[in-house]
Amino acid sequence: MQVRTRFAPSPTGFLHIGGARTALFSWAYAKRHQGQFILRIEDTDVARSTPEAVQAILDGMHWLGLDYDEGPFYQMQRMEQYKAIIQTMLADGTAYLCYCSKEELDALREQQMQQGVKPRYDGRWRPELGKVLPEPPKDVPPVVRFKNPSDDVVVWDDLVKGRIEIANAELDDLIIARADGTPTYNFCVVVDDWEMKISHVIRGDDHVNNTPRQINMLKALGATIPQYAHLSMILGDDGQKLSKRHGAVSVTQYDDDGYLPEAVLNYLARLGWSHGDDEVFDMQQFCAWFDLDHITASAAQFNTEKLNWLNAHYIKTCPLDKLVAETIKRLRHSGVDVSPTAQLEAALQLYRERANNLNQLAREIAFFFASPQPNVADVEKHITLEVMPIMASFLTKISVADWTAEAIQAVMNEVVAEQQIKFPKLAMPLRVMLTGGAQSPSIDQVMFILGRETAIQRINAYLS
Ligand code: GLU
Repeated sequence: MQVRTRFAPSPTGFLHIGGARTALFSWAYAKRHQGQFILRIEDTDVARSTPEAVQAILDGMHWLGLDYDEGPFYQMQRMEQYKAIIQTMLADGTAYLCYCSKEELDALREQQMQQGVKPRYDGRWRPELGKVLPEPPKDVPPVVRFKNPSDDVVVWDDLVKGRIEIANAELDDLIIARADGTPTYNFCVVVDDWEMKISHVIRGDDHVNNTPRQINMLKALGATIPQYAHLSMILGDDGQKLSKRHGAVSVTQYDDDGYLPEAVLNYLARLGWSHGDDEVFDMQQFCAWFDLDHITASAAQFNTEKLNWLNAHYIKTCPLDKLVAETIKRLRHSGVDVSPTAQLEAALQLYRERANNLNQLAREIAFFFASPQPNVADVEKHITLEVMPIMASFLTKISVADWTAEAIQAVMNEVVAEQQIKFPKLAMPLRVMLTGGAQSPSIDQVMFILGRETAIQRINAYLS
């Protein structure tokens, strides 16, 4: 069997963490089985769908690198197909016209509520053998209803949730086309899954309720029933529904917030799926491993700390040219103009080890390229009067020293010995003068990368 999966977002908002995980799992499943992954935009809710949301979804998929083999298909561009299939269903009796007015349906509903029964369509226009239907009223444009089987059960073996059985008696006859002829949501999904030959429907478990109806319609169309895998929801760090603080934002917000897509992907992959104790793996590895058997049926919980930890890992291991590009983008955004130089590369190599966020990394190395805003407290604490002669001596020696980190280190040791001081007495003020703050990696390396001219200039600014 050819594996064909799809991601079918409704463009009513951005691509958030939940949607991205659904897309990732569908994508990976297709890759694992050398199948196809299809992108379908379910834009039939015209009141809520926007072109901006479509773009946000495409941008999110692109940022994550979730490439699709077919699509994007837009349901609004497939209206004629849906309508044609509704005609065939009317002709073969798997669907029928219903002339109930809104008032009639409201009254029925009211009556059922009063009787304490679940409100449902009572089948008054449903054709049955030997049943005489009322005369169609002239002034009511009919809707089309699917003739749901009235007995038996709908069963499917959900690949995540296990066997699910629903009695057909629970399901009333779904409207598949409105009075104005437009097909309804569940019907479009069915036609598309059928015509797009979807083998595995992987989607959020908010769609479990739609599945028995969709299976019935697929059967009526003579379609092969796909396998279903309904993913449990994702909870926030606090165990509550995802909120804007964690996850309910656009995935591209993670780009703005300093995350690498590799980290977000690796993080999402482990959100409700596991491969032993493996935590860190790239997408090639994920696609080789991914299966539906190891998806947890319970809700997955978002964990920002773990995402940050993965981000730190990917910042450490990211190809240097990519890290350079990411940093330049962020530095320019904050008004620091840099170009891809050996100096930038060296600064990144030194600082990437300690970063868990690209924005933080860019902020931390900005002082190499623009005069730092000195931290007032650090200046007061470390740049005292007694430091001045020490720095003056250091400055004289460093002006003529070889320009390597080792030579700088040697000069520092020399000054410390001569002045009979502890190492931090020199290193701390030097840090503040060069970087603007009291925290940095090894200062000899920082100074080396900064360059002799700039280093001397920054020290001098405090001495004169
Ligand atoms: N369009 C639906 C949604 O965004 C998904 C439908 C499906 O996957 O079957 O929730």
